[in-house]
Amino acid sequence: MNLNDYNTSCQPNWCPGCGNFGTWTAWKQAAASQNWDNSNTALVAGIGCHGHLVNFTNINSIEGLHGRPLPVATGVKLANNKLNVFVFTGDGDCLAEGGNHFMNTCRRNHDLTIILHDNAIYGLTTGQTSPRTPMGFKSKSTPLGNIDMPLNPLEVAIAAGATFVARVFCMDIPKLTEIIIAANNHKGVALIDVLQPCPSFNPEYTAQYLKENTYYVDDSYDPSNKLGAIEKAMAWGDKQIACGILYQDKKQKSYEELIPFIQDQAVVSLPLQTRDVSSLFNKLT
Ligand code: SF4
Repeated sequence: MNLNDYNTSCQPNWCPGCGNFGTWTAWKQAAASQNWDNSNTALVAGIGCHGHLVNFTNINSIEGLHGRPLPVATGVKLANNKLNVFVFTGDGDCLAEGGNHFMNTCRRNHDLTIILHDNAIYGLTTGQTSPRTPMGFKSKSTPLGNIDMPLNPLEVAIAAGATFVARVFCMDIPKLTEIIIAANNHKGVALIDVLQPCPSFNPEYTAQYLKENTYYVDDSYDPSNKLGAIEKAMAWGDKQIACGILYQDKKQKSYEELIPFIQDQAVVSLPLQTRDVSSLFNKLT
């Protein structure tokens, strides 16, 4: 498929300057270069501005309930292990409503690629604080300033058992494209924390702020060092925001690799089997 083949007739309705444009473009570029199409790929989205992406993308998809894209994606992957399954979720969707699912998906190391549209605000509902909003931030829900400590999704993911964790600024489309491909090639849960501006409701993490304060880890960085990765992921602020693949464990098997009968054939295409349960009834009577 060419890049334009991934567009549906629905035009994106995101605000001008929204970070979703960069993330969507990078995913399409990755898809075109890897020949992802309806025969081999499925998209699952949560609720939020990001979730509209599936309506604009010409790939089989489902938009889950608030915070539920991960259990839906888990079901898709277990039903057909051959599919590349991408989860699009926001910081509110993934870390607030879906926080429990996030932690347990990482713990089980499901073979999913999670693209976290992280703009540190609830955009769709017009600007309430999310678990990523910085302390002191004044919003409709926190007119006196946010008193909640922000959550760091990379730190949580690594601690919970995720085996691929990366961070990228959404406007760096070549790098984001490269990392989406690397994440999909990784066997196990892959989290990409995509730093996005929301020009309509987050005046703090602007595109300029994110561009000026992020940097990439260099070749001397060892992504297999778990404690080092947590430390790197925790740094935030003035030119301190590390990007790139911050953690990768290539040895840990994915959840799906531990289930032998889904390796070669999709569950949905397995022949129905009848089982003789008479011995069970005999024991009971
Ligand atoms: Fe993007 Fe924010 Fe507009 Fe939503 S409200 S479309 S996140 S800029």
